[in-house]
Amino acid sequence: MQVRIRIPRGVARFVRPRIQAQFQSPLEARTAILVRGFAQTRRVRVFPEGWSERVARFDPEIVAARIVQLRKLASSKSRPEISHALVVLRYDTDPTPTQEDRDRLWRIFGVPVFEQYLNDRNEVLAMECDAHAGLHVVQGCLDHVLDATLCCCGNPAARLQLRPVLARFAVA
Ligand SMILES: [Zn+2]
Repeated sequence: MQVRIRIPRGVARFVRPRIQAQFQSPLEARTAILVRGFAQTRRVRVFPEGWSERVARFDPEIVAARIVQLRKLASSKSRPEISHALVVLRYDTDPTPTQEDRDRLWRIFGVPVFEQYLNDRNEVLAMECDAHAGLHVVQGCLDHVLDATLCCCGNPAARLQLRPVLARFAVA
């Protein structure tokens, strides 16, 4: 196999291996991820083409997807039965899931919704805890306004304040 290494600005600090990000599952369960760039395991399968017959046959207990995909899935006639959880994979370019989204997903699927905020390499920057009391910072998030008060889940990591972009404009 040929491996091409690009060296940014002529400085070789380290070589990032071409591995795919590990999905940080909130639960051990059969998971379908509808976004490309995640490593597959026995339980975790990636379907970058979105929801399809193929995903239905896999019969996932967790579905992880962007909010626009989950909204579409919720209104689809071939809506699947999901037994464990939905995971919203949110990137900077995505809308933040609203409370209305969460209520609707809960009403339709009857499973908890966990949000994860990711960078473009699918690394988790912040993730929602079991208490559903916000997204705890895992790494980075330096641009964001953070809430350092202790969460009821016991995780001491700071949480993202909602609407970080607006907050940043408000400071300027
Ligand atoms: Zn928490």
